Amino acid sequence: MKKCIVIGGGIAGLTAAAYLVKEGIQITVLESSPKLGGRAYSFIDQKTNRQIDNGQHILMGCYTDTIKFLNLVGAQGNFIYQKRLEVNFLKPGNKIVCLKSFPVFYPLNLLIALLNFNVLSIKEKISSLGFMMKSPFTSHQKLIDKNVKEWLEENKQSENLISSLWEMIAVGALNTNIEKASAMMFREILMKIFFSGNFSSTIILPKEDLSKSYVNNAKNFIEKNGGEIRLSSTVDEIVFDGDKVKRIKINGEAFNDFDFIISAVPFNSILKFIPEGFFEKNISFDYSSILNIHIWLKKNPLEGTFYGLINSPIHWIFNKQDHLNLVISDADYLMNKSAEELSEMCKTELIKYLEIDASEIQYYKILKEKRATFIPSNNIIYSRPKSKTKIKNLFLAGDWTDTGYPSTIESATKSGRIASELVINS
Ligand SMILES: Cc1cc2nc3c(=O)[nH]c(=O)nc-3n(C[C@H](O)[C@H](O)[C@H](O)COP(=O)(O)OP(=O)(O)OC[C@H]3O[C@@H](n4cnc5c(N)ncnc54)[C@H](O)[C@@H]3O)c2cc1C
Repeated sequence: MKKCIVIGGGIAGLTAAAYLVKEGIQITVLESSPKLGGRAYSFIDQKTNRQIDNGQHILMGCYTDTIKFLNLVGAQGNFIYQKRLEVNFLKPGNKIVCLKSFPVFYPLNLLIALLNFNVLSIKEKISSLGFMMKSPFTSHQKLIDKNVKEWLEENKQSENLISSLWEMIAVGALNTNIEKASAMMFREILMKIFFSGNFSSTIILPKEDLSKSYVNNAKNFIEKNGGEIRLSSTVDEIVFDGDKVKRIKINGEAFNDFDFIISAVPFNSILKFIPEGFFEKNISFDYSSILNIHIWLKKNPLEGTFYGLINSPIHWIFNKQDHLNLVISDADYLMNKSAEELSEMCKTELIKYLEIDASEIQYYKILKEKRATFIPSNNIIYSRPKSKTKIKNLFLAGDWTDTGYPSTIESATKSGRIASELVINS
């Protein structure tokens, strides 16, 4: 029986492990922290005794690998699936504008959705449709050095159109501003979301916190199928012998009882244990932050599940019933702000957008994730390492590997699936 070590218990490592145990491969997952889930985890907030996420995670219908993984571990029922794309956007004064696809055939339903999106003028609607229809035919060569802003401006997208539509999509999906994000990557996600069938553009949300939604199912699936999960187990060294991994060190102790290794840790973590010179190119990732603020109000003013905010520093509000989860992507500029400054900013925006009274606010929990995602700039997207390496029994997984996707759960699950297939087929 093949034996495989999976380093990292984030979603990439859990995906790889789940596919491997399904094939009867003996696996051990080594996770350095005392919990599974990596960057997609939940914990108990001491003050409210409520399990909350480190950050709201949104999936989409186009997350095909993620949906396959959720089905594999029996977690598909823990998510709410939209039938058609429907996003409510808030404008100041509690005014709602809806971006909603219609029950007519694809892609006409999405075109009607854009035509009805009343944040845009008629001219802007036509201009956005023109851009959208042109994007599948825009060559790789034309976009290779461009950022999203340059591409949008070249296509005469107005300032309002950029801030009210394209920026919402780009910042939401790429977690960086349109000057840093690669136009090529933006084109890829537009294709995935809007040109891959009706279901692709829909939003999928966990019914409960991330642990209950997928982490527990993945853990149970792996263990039930004979896999072992070791928490608080840090890999500190990998030693090669020619083109094979000879041994690894776990919490300082040497270990060599394996046939294959899958590393499913972030890029900056693998650099700590991989021999120097392993990556032939001089690769360097830059990162972008996400800020989540959980706010408890005396009375919940919202009915819907989630809202986008137009022209606000707060990008999304998720309605958790007993509280609201405010999300700010591309949040580097807020990382050094104090809790008072951040809560003041949230208060101002809630008063402006939801017309609540300041006295309604009872409690804040602020969560800063400084290295939430890598920036998909032109500097990195063409040099992301592949899963297969020059070392015959070592494969790479993780959202940063060359999946073609930005730093997302879909990239992580795709990378885990690819790495597992390489082990299965070796
Ligand atoms: C706040 C926030 C919000 C986000 N929102 C979304 C969203 O809405 N939609 C979306 O698709 N994506 C979102 N993302 C991105 C998504 O969370 C990540 O892309 C995904 O979780 C990455 O998974 P991974 O397994 O590749 O890496 P990680 O989750 O980073 O997992 C790597 C694991 O390896 C472990 N590890 C590291 N070094 C070692 C070592 N030496 N030995 C053993 N273990 C080690 C780490 O502890 C960690 O558990 C968000 C991220 C954050 C932070």
